[in-house]
Amino acid sequence: MISEKNKFKAEYFFKGIPVSPGVSIGKAFVLSGEAVKIERKTVADEEVEQEIKALLEAIDKSKQELVSDKTTARKRIGREHAKIFEMHSLILDDPYLIDEAVSIIRDENYSAEYAFYSIIDKYQRQLATSKGEYFQDRAADLRDIKRRVVRKIQGDRRDFLQKLEGSAIIIARDLTPSDTIALDRHKILGFATDLGGKTSHSAIMARSFRVPAAVGFRHLTNYVKNGDRVILDGNEGVVYVNPDKKTIEYYQKLRQHIREINEQLGLLRDLPARTLDGKDIELGANLEFTDELETVIEYGGKGIGLYRTDYMYLGRKELPGEDEQYEEYRRVVEKMRPYPVIVRTLDVGGDKSPECISIPPEENPYLGYRAIRISLERSEIFLPQLRAILRASAHGNLKILFPMISGMKEVREVKEMLEKARQQLLEENVPVSENVEIGVMIEVPSAALITDLIAQEVDFLSIGTNDLVQYMLAVDRGNERVSYLYKDLHPAVLRVIRDVVRAAHRKGTWVGMCGEMAGNPLATLILIGLGIDELSVSPIVLPEIKKIIRATEYSEAVRIADKMLEQTTAEDIEQFMMRYMRKKFKDLIF
Ligand code: PEP
Ligand code: MG
Repeated sequence: MISEKNKFKAEYFFKGIPVSPGVSIGKAFVLSGEAVKIERKTVADEEVEQEIKALLEAIDKSKQELVSDKTTARKRIGREHAKIFEMHSLILDDPYLIDEAVSIIRDENYSAEYAFYSIIDKYQRQLATSKGEYFQDRAADLRDIKRRVVRKIQGDRRDFLQKLEGSAIIIARDLTPSDTIALDRHKILGFATDLGGKTSHSAIMARSFRVPAAVGFRHLTNYVKNGDRVILDGNEGVVYVNPDKKTIEYYQKLRQHIREINEQLGLLRDLPARTLDGKDIELGANLEFTDELETVIEYGGKGIGLYRTDYMYLGRKELPGEDEQYEEYRRVVEKMRPYPVIVRTLDVGGDKSPECISIPPEENPYLGYRAIRISLERSEIFLPQLRAILRASAHGNLKILFPMISGMKEVREVKEMLEKARQQLLEENVPVSENVEIGVMIEVPSAALITDLIAQEVDFLSIGTNDLVQYMLAVDRGNERVSYLYKDLHPAVLRVIRDVVRAAHRKGTWVGMCGEMAGNPLATLILIGLGIDELSVSPIVLPEIKKIIRATEYSEAVRIADKMLEQTTAEDIEQFMMRYMRKKFKDLIF
C-alpha cells in the first residue's frame, strides 16, 4: 500500500505487516524477484572469459535441473504437462541464443547475468505484446527460463547478497530461508519485503537476526531504489523512503526510547518468570542458528523451547552427517546445561527447501511433502538425525520434539524409529541419556482434536500456532493478501488451546507453546490463564514477556482468559487486550 505523504519533500510512506520490532534508519539495498535486481553491469577485459564460462555452466546446470524436473513432473502431473520442461531445455539448446549472449559479453563486456537477462527479456517482451494465448504462454516460458538461468549464475557464485558493501536495509520481493542464510547478518539493518506474512520463515529469521522487519508491502520494490535513504519501523510495519527531517528526528527519538526500554528490561534477566501469586511459567527461547546462543543467554533464556534443526540443512548441497549434527546439538545442550533444550527433528518443505533434500514442486507445499512426512519416508535422513540427537542427550538436558504429526500412526512410527536408533547406539556402546522426554507438536488440527490419545504416548506437547492457525483458519501463513485473516487471537484458536491444555493435563502431560503466538504480548495473559505450562519465544521478545508474567496475578490471567473466551471475534479480543495492556504497561510499546 502506498500513500504519498508529502509529494514536494519526496517522502513516501508504505504500510506493511510488522514482524520484528525496532527502528532502523539507513540505505536501501533492493533485491527483486528471487534474486538481485539485474544491473547493467560490465566487467573488466580479463574477466570476460570467466563470465562466458559462468554463463555456459549455468545453462548446463539449468538443463540438468530441467531433466529432473521433467521426470518428477511426469510422475506427478502426467507426460503431456511434463513436455514443458523439454521445451525449455530445447530453448536452452538454441545455438543462436547462446551465441548472441556470448557475443554481447565479449563485445560489450556485460556480466553473464545481464547478457542473458537482456537477450531473453527482449524476446519475452516481443512475445508478450503479441496477441493470443499461445504467445503469452511462450512469453511466460521465457520468463521462467530467464529466472532459472540467472538464479544459477547468481546462486552458484553465492555473491549476490554479499554485494552488499556497507550496512543496509534489505528491500526484497521475498526472502526465502535459503536467501536469508546467504546474507552477512552483520551488514543487515533490517528487512522489508513485498510478500510474506507474520509467521513466514523470513519473518522468524529476521527476529533471530534481531533486526527490525516488516513484510507484505506488496509493491515496495517498485518504489525504492538502491541507495535510497529509508526508515524501517518494525513495531508499526512502516517504511519511509527518503524521509524528511521531521520524520528522521521523530524516529531518532523513538530509537532512543526503545533503547531505554530495553535497558530496563535487561534488569529482569536473572529473575524467574513467576506471576505475582507465585505460579512459575517455563520461559524458553526459540533457536534457529547456534551462533545465537549467546543472545539467548544475554536475554535471560532459561532453556531452548524449540531448536529448529532445519536451518542446519539449508544453504548446503550435501546433507549434514551424523557426527556434524552430533557436535552441533552437543554444543547447544552443553551451553544451556542444566536448562532443557528441545530439539525438533527436521521440518523442511513448506517454504523451506534445502538443496540437499529434493522436494519436488508442489501445488500446496504446506499441505504436502513436509517435516515428519519426509523423515518417515527417508530413513537415511531421519535415522542419522535421531542418532545424533540421542548421542547429544548424554551431555545435558535434552528433549526431542516431532513436527507436523497428524495422527497416532505417525506417533507410533516415530517412536519406533527412535527406539531403533537407541538400540543401535546401545549395541555400539555409545552413551545415551536414559530418560529423554519426547514430545509432539500440536500444529495440525487433527492432532489437536486427538490430544487425549497423543498425550498418553508422549511426555509433552508443544503447540505450534504458526501452522495451527494457518490450518485452522485456512489462511496461508506466508500470503500477504489474506494476512488480515491470520489471527492468533481468533476465538476458535483460543478454544483449541483451552481444549488441548485440558486434555493433556488430564493425562498428566505438560503443554508448551513455541509458535509466534507465545511471543505475542497481547496473548500472554490469555495463555497463562488457559494453563499453558511453558512458552518458547524469539529471544528478542523474551524480556518483555517475562515482564508481563511477573506483573500479573495468575488468578487475574484466568479471569481475562475466561472473559476472552466469551468474545465472538478476534478483533474484539485484540481491542480489549490492547486497551488492557496499554493501561497496565505504560512503558511497553503495543
Ligand atoms: C509452528 O508452526 O508454530 C512452529 C513453531 O513451527 P514452524 O514455524 O517452524 O513451522
Ligand atoms: Mg510448524
